[in-house]
Amino acid sequence: NKQIILKKRPEGNPEEANFEIQAIKTPEVEEGALLLKSVYISVDPYLRGRMRDEKSYIPPFEIGKPIESSVIAEVLASNNSEYNKGDYVHGMLPWKLIQVHSGNELQKVDKEQAPLSAYLGILGLTGITAYVGLNKIGDLKKGETLLVSGASGAVGSTVGQIGKIKGCHVVGIAGSDEKLTIMKEKFGFHSGINYKTTKDMNSAVKNACPEGVDVYFDNVGGEILDAALANINRYGRVINCGAISLYNATETPKGPRHETTLVKKSVKMQGFIVRDFKDDFESATKQLGSWLQSGELTYSETIKNGFDTLPSAFIGLFEGENKGKMVVKV
Ligand code: NDP
Repeated sequence: NKQIILKKRPEGNPEEANFEIQAIKTPEVEEGALLLKSVYISVDPYLRGRMRDEKSYIPPFEIGKPIESSVIAEVLASNNSEYNKGDYVHGMLPWKLIQVHSGNELQKVDKEQAPLSAYLGILGLTGITAYVGLNKIGDLKKGETLLVSGASGAVGSTVGQIGKIKGCHVVGIAGSDEKLTIMKEKFGFHSGINYKTTKDMNSAVKNACPEGVDVYFDNVGGEILDAALANINRYGRVINCGAISLYNATETPKGPRHETTLVKKSVKMQGFIVRDFKDDFESATKQLGSWLQSGELTYSETIKNGFDTLPSAFIGLFEGENKGKMVVKV
């Protein structure tokens, strides 16, 4: 058996040396408990925040303790009447190959209904984040122009497709021409901007959104947020879902440069944490599942193979290695 711990906190970009793979013993399965084997493990940008020793909406990881994230696991043995050997479950679990668990706060997942990895992406928090952000914060309406950054990633590619389903003009920002092609051909974005090769982002957004931006779904923050604000329409909405361009910053970034625009154009800018919308999880997954079934919605995954690839998979998120949801198949 093995686990992966946080060995030291990253300064700037995360590196392999921040993690350590350790051999561990598997404890006895006491009465009421389950023995779980990790099958798919999610790596997510927000885990970088938990590697800082800072107070946040979720406690920081402790040095010497395993990292935890969303995991799909198989029940190898059960001393708990609610679970049977062979069930698959989803939960926030430490990065261990095999572990004993109380069974509390796990959800069963149905292997027949969707591929297991989808419960970490389109049918998990990723899909729900896109859905809740657009509907509860963005109030996206038919005919509007939707701009989304991190557009070829897990959340971003879902956001763009929901925008299309709602009859919006959808423009995405991502870090390679290959990703722009996938966004247009697979996910139906109207156009895309490669932020790595574009010198003047303000003009690029202006050209791609001739009628201005009504809703900006922000996954990256920083200069791309500035370019979106420079082109936002009156009564526009900015959904602050994430700010990956700032997660490895070693200094506090300066504020948005177009703040006066928010006043002059009566723009609403709001952050959110998906876990605060638990009441919407069921309806969101039902809707996402039905769009998947009808073929209106699809998804991409980058799957790394092997438990030991978890640190490099996580690091890869900050280098744009993934197309769609990054997961590790154990
Ligand atoms: P992604 O699948 O989008 O993976 C991260 C992507 O970010 C990379 O593929 C890369 O694509 C892009 N990226 C990396 N570094 C930068 C940079 N410096 N500037 C611009 N883009 C960069 O991850 P998720 O879909 O899981 O998450 C997307 C965002 O949503 C994150 O900010 C995350 O924290 C946030 N989030 C928020 C939640 C909430 O409750 N508010 C819940 C879940 C996620 P590229 O090649 O285009 O650079």
